This record gives sequence, structure tokens and C-alpha cells, in this order.
Amino acid sequence: MTFDSVGFSQPILDAVKACGYDKMTPVQQVVMPLVIEGKDVLASAQTGTGKTAAFSLPLLSLLSQQIEQQETKTAWQRLRVLIMTPTRELAIQIERNIVDYAQFLPFESVAVYGGASINPQRKALNKGVDILVATPGRLFDIIGQYDLDLSFVTHLVIDEADRMLDLGFVKDIEKVKRLVNRQHQTMMFSATYSEDVKSLAAKMLKSPEFVHV
Ligand code: AMP
Repeated sequence: MTFDSVGFSQPILDAVKACGYDKMTPVQQVVMPLVIEGKDVLASAQTGTGKTAAFSLPLLSLLSQQIEQQETKTAWQRLRVLIMTPTRELAIQIERNIVDYAQFLPFESVAVYGGASINPQRKALNKGVDILVATPGRLFDIIGQYDLDLSFVTHLVIDEADRMLDLGFVKDIEKVKRLVNRQHQTMMFSATYSEDVKSLAAKMLKSPEFVHV
């Protein structure tokens, strides 16, 4: 299955080509159309399966449908996608991929994570970004210290849900659900399905589509 079949716009197809991707991976074939349709998704996918592109490319496509309104927005109103991931390395990696995928689109992204100074991250956020990749600890530091407003976020991604639970982030994830826009789409990825992951999914997702590939 090629990327053309999903109905991506030319800037996204050009970015896919620049990344050297030829065909969709199995998880991409199933997840991408569901994300485009606005469905909540619970997918079992490990790092290495192409899951970052599986959620990022369709989210960029959804954001692209509203580019014309961009200039009139405040910094917080621009923030539409929040990706939560357990570690600093993953946050950096995901944001790098998004920069590649959005290279022909007018979207800004930033990664915020612990172990680095908070100020440059806050400044980048204040300038206005469309996509925020965050580890839970740093996200709540920034929310607490600088009144970061997530109420315009309409797409939430919970990456590596099982590792997030192992690291004790369950309360943070549940709190984020209450801070984002009431109408939001959630995509959750997990390598394993423990009872805890299932119970988190039951709280976070609305009529989800289950993807096992
Ligand atoms: P991820 O599972 O998101 O960490 O991706 C693993 C690797 O696969 C990354 O280096 C991606 O750049 C690459 N990748 C993602 N989608 C594709 C694709 N459709 N074809 C080839 N490589 C891909």
C-alpha cells in the first residue's frame, strides 16, 4: 500500500518521499486511515514499526485543513497536538521526525523534557507551536510555572503507554485528559497490553478502534 492511497496532500507526500519511505508499514496501513477519520485508537506497536509516522502524518494532514486560520491565532490557540512520551530520548526522536514530516508545511513543533533547562523550552512554546512533544514531568512543570493552556489541544497521543505506567505517570496522563479540549481525539500506543494499560485505555479512549499488527 502506498502513501497516495490515504489521500495525503502534496506537501506530505513530498516529505514522505524526502524521507525515502516507499510503502507504508503494516501499522501505518491500519492506523493512518483511522486517525484521518478522527477515531480514537489503541494500537499495539513497538518502536521500529513506523508508529511515529503512523500518527504524525495523518495528524499533519488534519492540521493542514485549517492552515488558513493560523495567523489570527494566539500562541495557545495554535497548540492542537500533544504527544506524551515517557523519556527525553523518545521526545527528541519524535520531534525530529515531525520536523522531517512537516518540512513542506507551515507548522512548528517543540519537544519539552526533563534534564535540560526549562527556559528555552518555555520560550519556544510562547512563540506559538502547533505540535508539542512532552514527557509528563516537564509538561506539568511548565503547566505549573507558566500557565500553559492546553484547552485548544484536539489531538492527544499517548506513546509507549506501558512504559509510562511503569514509570508512574498514570495520574499525569489522566490529568492531561482533563486539560485538553473537551472534544479531542486520543491515540494510544503500547507494546504490551497489561490490565493497567487496558484500564488506562478504558478511561482515556472513546469507542476506540483496536489495532494489532
Ligand atoms: P518508529 O517506529 O516510528 O520509531 O520508526 C522506526 C524507523 O522507521 C524510523 O527510522 C522511521 O524513519 C522509519 N520509517 C517509518 N515509516 C517508514 C516507512 N513507511 N518506510 C520506511 N521507513 C519508515
